Amino acid sequence: MYIKENLSEINENIYKSLQRVGRKDNVELIAVTKTVDIDRIEEAISLGITDIGENRVQELEKKIDALGNRVNYHLIGSLQTNKVRFIIDEVKLIHSLDRVSLAKELEKRAKMNNILVNALIQVNVAEEETKSGLRVDEVISFIEEIQKYENIRIKGLMTIAPFTDDEAILRNVFRTMNSLKENIISRDYENVSMDYLSMGMTNDYEIAIEEGSNMIRVGTGIFGKRNY
Ligand SMILES: *Cc1c(COP(=O)(O)O)cnc(C)c1O
Repeated sequence: MYIKENLSEINENIYKSLQRVGRKDNVELIAVTKTVDIDRIEEAISLGITDIGENRVQELEKKIDALGNRVNYHLIGSLQTNKVRFIIDEVKLIHSLDRVSLAKELEKRAKMNNILVNALIQVNVAEEETKSGLRVDEVISFIEEIQKYENIRIKGLMTIAPFTDDEAILRNVFRTMNSLKENIISRDYENVSMDYLSMGMTNDYEIAIEEGSNMIRVGTGIFGKRNY
């Protein structure tokens, strides 16, 4: 029963966060299902979840085998170049485009499959050693470099904020992302849209929404603590 209660609490919090800043648009909720078994994911789907996120290719493939096309899949973790081919035609959005070599492989495999691949550029705003992603000051030149890849569609930006309760630090990270987004929009690049700002997890999604996020990735808040 607790998944139901958790989801209604999250939906309520999303609504309140949007209201606090006078936003009239929506926030997409991605249920992060890493380590979560299929029965519990099924329950979440029956309660309205339409999009799930996984950070490892192998686990994502297992979920795809079990759940098929009843949900949309998001790859939210680092993607090794040699694993691209396993998931390229299965995912709605790759949140972790962070290097030219990965863009090259995505382009190659997308071409082979005759598809367009949708990706977000991952930004490591706080420049944490343990996290992947481009530095803020690298993003513009990265976009200019990968613009030539015809089968990649950049759909926005993604970040993982530092794990902290310090609201000022979190707001600063999310604001930086929002202004980077505006900067990119103003440059009017071809094949680049800023439809999605994927930011906000269990600990910080309300602040992220107040600062402009329209796609949050929540695991613990829906399914409870993970047992690794
Ligand atoms: C695990 C994970 C999440 C969800 O984290 P919670 O704190 O459980 O909500 C979101 N984004 C990424 C990239 C993750 O790896």
